Amino acid sequence: MLDLDETLVHASLEFMEQSHLQFDVTFKEQDYHVWVKIRPHCLEFLERLAEKFEIIVFTASQSIYADKLLNLIDPDSRLIKHRVFRNSCLFVNENYVKDLTVLNRDLSKIAIVDNSPQAFGYQVLSNGIPIKSWFGDTSDRQEVCLLKLLPFIESLAAADDVRPHIVNRFKLHERVSAL
Ligand SMILES: [Mg+2]
Repeated sequence: MLDLDETLVHASLEFMEQSHLQFDVTFKEQDYHVWVKIRPHCLEFLERLAEKFEIIVFTASQSIYADKLLNLIDPDSRLIKHRVFRNSCLFVNENYVKDLTVLNRDLSKIAIVDNSPQAFGYQVLSNGIPIKSWFGDTSDRQEVCLLKLLPFIESLAAADDVRPHIVNRFKLHERVSAL
């Protein structure tokens, strides 16, 4: 499972130089123009994951925006099999929290890559793979963030239960309790 904003893309309602995509959305009778940059190696990341996993994008963004964006990134749903939006999140303490049980999948077989620790509520502490937020920076260090995660994520394909591997590797319980 993959988060969208600041994990795979960076989108803005303000003009961005060197954007990769642009589109219009109408929300509450207002028209908006959206500029989008795609994180380096995003498509390669999706292609590689799609070989071993069912990919679901789980975003706290509104479907009106995210669906349009995903139609441009993956027009035939060849890579991303399902899309889950804000209406499937819980709103807790001003944050949209992703409750993975809404997906009716076996939690021992789910991992979510997400840049927002606030989204890691409930069981997500054991299923969440953190990634540095991306705001369009293309410096070398940022360049490889998605690719660096690939070997670990690919190794999860062989796990009976992904959770102990994720807990061991990222220790999110400790990080969140230290916030
Ligand atoms: Mg995000």
